[in-house]
Order: sequence, then C-alpha cells, then structure tokens
Amino acid sequence: MERAGVVVIGGGAAGLAALRALRQAGCDALLLEARARLGGRIHTLHPDGWPAPVELGAEFIHGAPAELSRLAVETGGSECEDWTWRDGKLLPAAEFGGDVWAALEGMAAIRPPAPDRSFAAYLAALPGLSEAAQQAAGAYIEGYEAADPERISVYSLNRERAAGGPQEAGPRRPRAGFDALVRELASDGRVLLDAVVEAVEWQPGRVRIAARHRGEELRVEARAAVVTLPLALLQSDAVKFAPPLDAKRPALQRLAMGGALRVTLRLREPLWREVRDDTGRRLEALGFLFGFEPEAGHFPTWWTHPCAAQITGWAAGRHAWAMAGWPQDRILERALADLALRLRLPSARLAAAVLGAHTHDWQADPFAGGGYSYAGVGGLDAAAQLAAPLDGTLFFAGEATDAQGEHATLQGAVRSGRRAAAEALAALP
Ligand SMILES: Cc1cc2nc3c(=O)[nH]c(=O)nc-3n(C[C@H](O)[C@H](O)[C@H](O)COP(=O)(O)OP(=O)(O)OC[C@H]3O[C@@H](n4cnc5c(N)ncnc54)[C@H](O)[C@@H]3O)c2cc1C
Repeated sequence: MERAGVVVIGGGAAGLAALRALRQAGCDALLLEARARLGGRIHTLHPDGWPAPVELGAEFIHGAPAELSRLAVETGGSECEDWTWRDGKLLPAAEFGGDVWAALEGMAAIRPPAPDRSFAAYLAALPGLSEAAQQAAGAYIEGYEAADPERISVYSLNRERAAGGPQEAGPRRPRAGFDALVRELASDGRVLLDAVVEAVEWQPGRVRIAARHRGEELRVEARAAVVTLPLALLQSDAVKFAPPLDAKRPALQRLAMGGALRVTLRLREPLWREVRDDTGRRLEALGFLFGFEPEAGHFPTWWTHPCAAQITGWAAGRHAWAMAGWPQDRILERALADLALRLRLPSARLAAAVLGAHTHDWQADPFAGGGYSYAGVGGLDAAAQLAAPLDGTLFFAGEATDAQGEHATLQGAVRSGRRAAAEALAALP
C-alpha cells in the first residue's frame, strides 16, 4: 500500500504540471502513469540518423502561450508557401482560399441570442456559398479541429478563435522536440510508471485506488486525486469510479474526442522540390500541402520540416477513425499512395526514396482513445462542468477541461493541471 496526500492519475502535460505545482507547495503527491514513459500525447522520437526530431503527437505551438514560453522555438518555415491539391489539381493554396476564409470569418456573427449550431449547419445556411467552398471549409475544420463538422459547436469555434490571439507567420515548433516540455515539467516528485489505474473508490476526504504496477496489484490511499484521464477514457468508463461520476455525464455527452493520425517520412532528398504545380511553378518552398478527400481513411494534408527532408501526412476526424486499428504497414501504404498522388510521383520512385517512417495510432491506443477534444453543439459550458471538483476530493484536469478555448492544446493541458493542483491545495486541510 502506497500513501500520499494527493494522487495524480496520468503523466501527460496536465498531470506533470499538477504534480509539479503540488510538490512546489510542499504537498506529498504521487503520480501514477499507465505507460512506461511520461508525456502522454507528447511523444517525441529521436531516431538514429534522422536530421530532426519526429513527433507522433503534438508538434506545433499554437499562438504564443505563456505555458510554453520557456521552450526554445524553431520558427523556420515562415518563408514557406502552401499549396492545395483537389480533384487532381495542384495549385497555390491562395487560389482556393477566398470563400473559405470569408465563411470562417462570418462565424463570429453567430452569438447569443442566435442559437448555437454545428459548423456544417452554419455553412449550409450561408447564402451563396458554393458546394466546393462548403466542402473546403468543412475539410479545413475537420483537419484542424479533428472534428466532425456535423457535430462541432460554432460557439466553441468562436471562443477558440478569440483565445488564440495573433498567430506569428509560419508554424512554430520546439526546436528540440516537444519532449523538452516533458523534461521541463517533470519534477522530483514520486512517479510510478507502468501503473495502470483500474478503479477509484472515493468519499469526501479519502481516495482508494486499485492499480496494476508492472503486472502486480497496487493499492494507493490519498486524501484527494487529480484525474487527468483523456476525455475518451472518461466517456468509456475505462477506469471504474465508485461512486460513479454521474455528475459528469451531461458534460461528457456534450464533448467529443476527435481523431488524429500522423505519419512522418524521412526521404533521401526533398523530392517535392522537383514537382511542378498546374501553373508550372516548382514546390521548392513547400510548407503545407492541403488536400480534400471525400472518402474517409486518407491523409489529405501534408507538411514538410523546414530543416530536413522529412514530410508528415495528417489524417484527422473521420480519416483517422477510419484507419483506427489498421496494421502499421497498411497505414504506411495508404500514406505513400496519398503522397505519390499529390506530388504526381510514380509510387515506386517515392517508395525507393523513403529511408524510414514513424506513426502512432492514437485512436486504438488504450491510454488515449483519440487525438484531442472538441465541444459539440450546446457544449460551450461542458468543459467547465467537467473541470468542477467533486466533494473537495476529486479534481479534474486534462486538455478537455480547459474552458477558455484551449481544449485541444498543450497550453490548455498545462493550465488545467496547474488549476486542478491549486484547487486541491485550497481544499486540503
Ligand atoms: C496526433 C496529435 C497531434 C497533436 N498536435 C498538437 C499540436 O500541434 N499542438 C498542440 O498544442 N496540441 C496538439 N495535440 C494535442 C495535445 O497533444 C494534447 O492536448 C495534450 O498532450 C493533452 O495532454 P493531457 O495531459 O491532457 O493528456 P495526455 O497527454 O493524454 O495525458 C493523460 C495521461 O494519462 C495516462 N493514462 C491513461 N489511462 C490511464 C490509467 N488507467 N492509469 C494511469 N494513467 C493513465 C496516459 O497514458 C497519459 O500519459 C495533438 C495531439 C495528437 C494526438
């Protein structure tokens, strides 16, 4: 039996931030993490011989959040240009953009007393928007939010856009990989890896946890718990709470887990540089290559690494869910076919240029259950309800509990961990 003042469940960004805040306040805290590593949906690889780190989870810093301000940032790529591939046409992204950006800007008008609605319903009601622009805007939201356009709330999209603040030109990433954040957040606190929490029995002021630690039964007793389980695991009752979390049901039903899957390829050379678009221009400075794909189970979007012959394929929303559980070979085969089509390269030529590939199926991952969260129609206040403590004993953190529009980002996760730790400290005698 282990004893602690506060037990933190989950060692992703939220759990690590909570542990650190608890430790700094002198609290005896213990963190239980199911995997053999910390970081959760931050999963950076540094494969031998690869020129740049490979992210299997989070890669980009969205906005300029204080929570990530200590990371050394790679801003290379601001000189990059974006292209769009659609119906066999390859053109500079700006050629397709106009109507789509206007549709996104127009969302700001949907605010009370106008009722909340899905992004798809919003688009369908826009006068004069062509079907092609509707599809493009839907694909954009699916790709960026990992969400089903038929389900995601326009109110929540507006809040997220307001929270984002000004975005610097070009994508920003931690230079050394996002695992630098894991190292920054990790504290000297007690951490047990390979500790899968199975059940949480709780009453005011007391929590008893049943877990499996390296295959052995483990019991932990604490006064309080900070729960940072990903949304999908709370929704599926992957951990049995007794009494059950009935108070959270309405919030859990109004939030959704988006699907996200990425494949990063290391190439012998940056093959895209020799490709020409329909206007005859070379994709010399390719940044993002956006794509539209009506059929689920594809990698519509690709982006290059600014300093390396590495290219990443991105499948979000229904594309990622359609490939959940596929063997890695099949995922890679699909990614290569999609890239060859977009770059107009013979498949054999592309395959011969691939020196390595990495991917991770977050949808089939029992400790993630998907990519990142979003709010469904009518779910604007659901994150705050999910975050609310229960009986001064269970405290909730994790990206999905961020109620300020950062429910799908690392800054939201870190912020939530700090908030839950502060709530627990205030409640402890
Ligand atoms: C493919 C992908 C790309 C992304 N891209 C970006 C991006 O570019 N920028 C950005 O800001 N965000 C991005 N995100 C989102 C970001 O990664 C998440 O918002 C953030 O990492 C969530 O942190 P968390 O601590 O809330 O959850 P997690 O990191 O999931 O942490 C939860 C932890 O709980 C553990 N756990 C689960 N079950 C148990 C159990 N039974 N017992 C004990 N422990 C358990 C898990 O192993 C995990 O470590 C991306 C996510 C994905 C998947």
